[in-house]
Amino acid sequence: MKSQSSLDFFSSKNNSMLPDYFSLAVSCSKLGTNITMQVFTEEVTTKHMKDVSRLLKIYLPTILESTCFNTKNLSFDKEVTHTELGHLFEHILLEYLCKEKIRSGSNEAVFKGVTKWNWNKDTFGTFHIQIDVPHAEKDLLYFALEQSVLLLKRIIHYHASWPSYPDITQKPLQLSSYKPEKQMA
Ligand SMILES: [Zn+2]
Repeated sequence: MKSQSSLDFFSSKNNSMLPDYFSLAVSCSKLGTNITMQVFTEEVTTKHMKDVSRLLKIYLPTILESTCFNTKNLSFDKEVTHTELGHLFEHILLEYLCKEKIRSGSNEAVFKGVTKWNWNKDTFGTFHIQIDVPHAEKDLLYFALEQSVLLLKRIIHYHASWPSYPDITQKPLQLSSYKPEKQMA
């Protein structure tokens, strides 16, 4: 497709003060945006991030009211305390997209996303995130990605300083409690 463009500049080097906890390969077309996220931390969920809600409340409070479709039918403010980092990133990105669209003059903004993973097929910690933001809105996407990368890095970094948080230099472990294949919106 002609309008397809690869934006894999987001290997998180923009926010150089914080370590590369994850990488993103982004491509957007007329139809939407596909992001492949590779998380490098051993822990790939928010399960041990006791302050994830508190940090979101400080930096992006509206995200806690966002709509989430998950298997347990939990609202996002409950879901966020134990969810995969790819799913959290999807919601952060959707929220920044909406915020920026409204800020730039739109009366309303609705974006949808879905996060899938299959660690039987992909490397552990790989997420595929689809967002319905088209190439025509790539400036908006750039801006929202930048903000989202920074916020997720801040959240991970905050918790990574805990002694109980696994050392990111260690090799990822495949933990039996993870469901290797799932989809969440
Ligand atoms: Zn969701």
